[in-house]
Amino acid sequence: MTDTDGTAGLDRRLADALERLGHGMRSLAQRTAREHGLSPLQQQAVLALARHPRERREVAVLAAEFDVTTPTMSDAVTALERKELVTRSPGTDGRRRALTLTATGEEVAHGLSSWDDPLTAALAAVPEADRATTLHTLLRAIEGLQRAGVVNLTRTCTTCRFFGRDEHDDPDVPHQCHLLRMPLPLTDLRTDCPEHEPANAPSRGKQRSSAS
Ligand code: SF4
Repeated sequence: MTDTDGTAGLDRRLADALERLGHGMRSLAQRTAREHGLSPLQQQAVLALARHPRERREVAVLAAEFDVTTPTMSDAVTALERKELVTRSPGTDGRRRALTLTATGEEVAHGLSSWDDPLTAALAAVPEADRATTLHTLLRAIEGLQRAGVVNLTRTCTTCRFFGRDEHDDPDVPHQCHLLRMPLPLTDLRTDCPEHEPANAPSRGKQRSSAS
């Protein structure tokens, strides 16, 4: 929809900008993946395996993280096994298969780690206060998309059961983490927190606080 001055509404333009950004990032990912003989999904899997702790290195976990079906992720991992970048071994319960990067896989992950440098360089030119507000806005949008069932697994502060929204008057530090027991500046909001628990998860925090 276009306003009388010829511009679309703010929400429409924000959505357009995000869509444009998504196109750019997809094309960047395709280019770097191609340079390493991978598909974009295989590239995402390699990068995730390089940074995830062992308990998150499983096909089903990666599938949820990247919003694809388990068979689709399994196919991508099988291709990575064929390329000798990944191995599967029995997981902690003996049934699930833990994924591990081979030495070659680690090298490829290192080579891929700067795939989004053009974006981070562009962001670095924006004042920190604006970046913090943008991060906050994007995390709230992700929260809304998760609630609507559009995205699956996220480990962001705004979808975490320990997140205390707007508990402080300081506009730069409005939220609280009830697990870490500290205020959360907008600049420190997390996008992949190892302590994250979904907002509707059983109460590990309560167990912890009642134990302490
Ligand atoms: S546990 Fe992590 S994700 Fe959850 S509110 Fe605290 S810092 Fe954010």
